[in-house]
Amino acid sequence: EASDKMPYYEGLSERFQLIKKMGDGAFSNVYKARDRQTGQKVAIKVVRKYELNSNQRANILKEVQIMRNLKHDGIVELQSFSESREHYFLVLELMEGGELFHQIVKLTYFSEALARHVILQVAHAIRYLHEERGVVHRDIKPENLLFESIKIIPSKHPIQRPYDEEKEDEGEFMPGIGGGGIGRVKIADFGLSKVVWEESTMTPCGTVGYTAPEIVKDERYSKSVDMWALGCVLYTLLCGFPPFYDESISVLTEKVAKGYYTFLSPWWDDISKSAKDLITHLLCVDPRQRYTIDEFLRHPWCNVKDPIPDLNS
Ligand code: ADP
Ligand code: MG
Repeated sequence: EASDKMPYYEGLSERFQLIKKMGDGAFSNVYKARDRQTGQKVAIKVVRKYELNSNQRANILKEVQIMRNLKHDGIVELQSFSESREHYFLVLELMEGGELFHQIVKLTYFSEALARHVILQVAHAIRYLHEERGVVHRDIKPENLLFESIKIIPSKHPIQRPYDEEKEDEGEFMPGIGGGGIGRVKIADFGLSKVVWEESTMTPCGTVGYTAPEIVKDERYSKSVDMWALGCVLYTLLCGFPPFYDESISVLTEKVAKGYYTFLSPWWDDISKSAKDLITHLLCVDPRQRYTIDEFLRHPWCNVKDPIPDLNS
């Protein structure tokens, strides 16, 4: 675990040894790191403060504020937050398995049982956000859904064997997805999330008595953006491509606005009616008609009891 190519961040590197880069965004890099004192492995999101305007800085602080108030098995935990003159540092629970996005690419698509196993974990986390914390995530997508480490037996399962340069370090516990079933999936990246009601009052934020009807209505339906996204993720898991796609942004925008998608043959031919029915209730243009998280969880497709999916069968 050489850190020679890793950058040195004043205010962070004294305490954490950076191991490798795990992801990057417009203003941030995410590193796998090790607490020099305890040996604990973490993920650290390093945000380049100096590239942000004051609005964007406020948004990072809001992301931190929201994450601090969340505690759920399906949500990546923020362990601590600090800043230096040039950076913000978000120390996060390490998700070694990487993005759901990569697993889709690797496996092409998921069986219904595996898709159910994954999507139910995401749905329970969304239920917690929507119903217990009044938080709308607003950026649910495969890149922001991360897998924990998952046990696989590499030699017996060459096809599912994930590429990992650190395999000696991890022994038989390797990131990825495979023989021993799959581990937890958690929601990350609260950079666009928003609190729509305060816990204490159960009312929308702001002074309710003076709030205009369009705002109140907006807040009531704002949770539905996560349900649309959940529908897109479920669709993609089941067939390997997203429900809405076009090379031209304007055509794509038009398709989304009209809710124009199909269960394309032959890819959808063998997928259950029940799965299609559920997706239809999520990819529904009118947010008032769209399923809420509780309606989603009550749908028959979510309540099929099958054994924990094994990718090798
Ligand atoms: P951005 O706002 O730039 O999208 P994210 O918080 O989504 O920032 O992080 C960017 C990427 O970094 C993620 O898509 C993921 O690949 C990786 N990443 C983020 N958090 C973690 C984590 N806790 N463990 C492992 N990888 C992570
Ligand atoms: Mg992200």
